[in-house]
Amino acid sequence: MPIIISISISYIYDLPFYSIWLQSQIFLKNFIKRGKVVVIVRLKDKVSIVTGSGQGIGREIALAFAREGAKVVVSDITEKVFEVAREVEALGSESLAIKCDVSKTNDVENMVNKTLERFGRIDILVNNAGIYPFAPFTEMGEADWDKVLNVNLKGNFNCIKAVSHSMIKQKYGKIINISSIAGSVVGFHQLAHYCASKAGIVGLTRALALELAPHGINVNAIAPGPIETPGTQAVGEMYEQMRRAIPLGRWGKPIDIANLAVFLASEDSSFITGQCIVADGGYTIQ
Ligand code: NAP
Repeated sequence: MPIIISISISYIYDLPFYSIWLQSQIFLKNFIKRGKVVVIVRLKDKVSIVTGSGQGIGREIALAFAREGAKVVVSDITEKVFEVAREVEALGSESLAIKCDVSKTNDVENMVNKTLERFGRIDILVNNAGIYPFAPFTEMGEADWDKVLNVNLKGNFNCIKAVSHSMIKQKYGKIINISSIAGSVVGFHQLAHYCASKAGIVGLTRALALELAPHGINVNAIAPGPIETPGTQAVGEMYEQMRRAIPLGRWGKPIDIANLAVFLASEDSSFITGQCIVADGGYTIQ
C-alpha cells in the first residue's frame, strides 16, 4: 500500500528553503523508486509553453510547472532560455529551450512546431513575455507605441493563434495571459502604451474564453501588482514608495504569480474561465 504525500511548496522563496526542498526531493525520489511513496503533482506530464521565461516571473512559472510535473518549453527572446531549461531539467522535468520573439509570427510558428515535434501536444500556454519602457505620452512616438503593442498584445494573439488548432483538436487547453494591474485596474504615469496593451489582454481573454469554451479550453489572465524581477530593478527610489502603498507591506515575488499560474493551469480551476485575477498585495483596493 503506497503512502500518498501531497507537498505544498508555496513558501519556498529563498535559497536555504530551496536547498532544503531539493534535498527532500532527492529523499522522496529514493522512496518513490522503492514504490513506497506516491507524490501528487498537479501538472503531471502536461506540456507547457511559457513565453518570456528567461528571467523574472516567466522563469519562476517555468520552474513551478516543472516542480508540478509538467514538461516545459522555455521560450524567450534571449539566450537565457538555455540556462532556465537546464534548471527545469535539474528538477526532474523534460524541457525544450526555444529562442522566440513573440511579436514575430515566424518565430512563434517555429516554437509551436518544434514543441509539437518533440512532445506531440500542447496543454498549457502562458503568455508572459512583455516589456514596460517608461515614456511620457507627449514624447511617445508611433514606433514606441507599436513596439509595446506588438510584443505585449499582438504577441499574445500570435501565440494563442498558433496553439489553438492543436488545443481544439485535443479538446483541452489552458491559456494564461499575463496582464497587469496597470491598464486593467488603474492607470500608471508614463505607461500609456503599456496600460493600453494590458487592458487589451483582458478584453482578448474574455472574448477568447467565450469562443474557446466549447472546445474545452480555459482562458484566464493574471494581473500582477509590483513584483520584484530583473525588469523592475530599475525603479530606484520608487521601490520604497511603492512598498509603502502596498497594504501587505511588501513587493510581490515571482513565486506569488507562479503559484497562481499553477492553479490556473491545473484542474483545481477547471470551472474558471474568462477571468482576470489580481495579485497585488492589496495595492488596488484602496
Ligand atoms: P522581465 O524581468 O523584464 O522578464 C521578461 C522576459 O521577457 C525577459 O527575458 C525579456 O527579454 C523577455 N522578452 C522581452 N521581449 C520579448 C519578446 N518580444 N519575445 C519574447 N520574450 C521577450 O519581466 P517581468 O517583470 O518578469 O514581467 C513578466 C510579465 O509580467 C510581463 O508581461 C509584465 O508586463 C508582467 N508584469 C510584471 C510586473 C512586475 O512588477 N514585474 C507587474 C505586472 C505585470 P529582455 O530582457 O531582453 O527584454
